[in-house]
Amino acid sequence: MYDTQNIFAKILRGEVPCTKVYEDENVLAFYDINPKVPMHILVLPKGAYCSFHDFTTLAPPLEVAAFFKTAALLAEQLGIADKGYRLITNHGEDSGQEVPHFHLHLLGGNLLGL
Ligand code: 5GP
Repeated sequence: MYDTQNIFAKILRGEVPCTKVYEDENVLAFYDINPKVPMHILVLPKGAYCSFHDFTTLAPPLEVAAFFKTAALLAEQLGIADKGYRLITNHGEDSGQEVPHFHLHLLGGNLLGL
């Protein structure tokens, strides 16, 4: 069950600020508040999905495809697609997922360790 009080839901509703890097009708991307690398961006669909697993199993396939295409275009716009970047997403308790609204961590801008 989706928790409408999670912090990303509040950011999406404009109740909590974020440093936005991209927004369209379906997607919001902003800088992580606690970056693991200099360019650490969170990319999320605006729909109420708890995790990658929920999104990919519950959302219509066209919505899933459009989301991942937008993430790739965003990496290009940020200028990190040529040199490379990493996508991470956590699903559920065992993964350590902190915020129960599906998001990708987009990491790039320099050589990433393991
Ligand atoms: P998760 O563990 O759920 O995959 O990652 C959640 C991420 O959200 C963490 O990297 C954390 O730093 C980030 N985060 C948590 N609260 C906030 C917030 O209020 N604003 C922003 N910009 N990032 C947040």
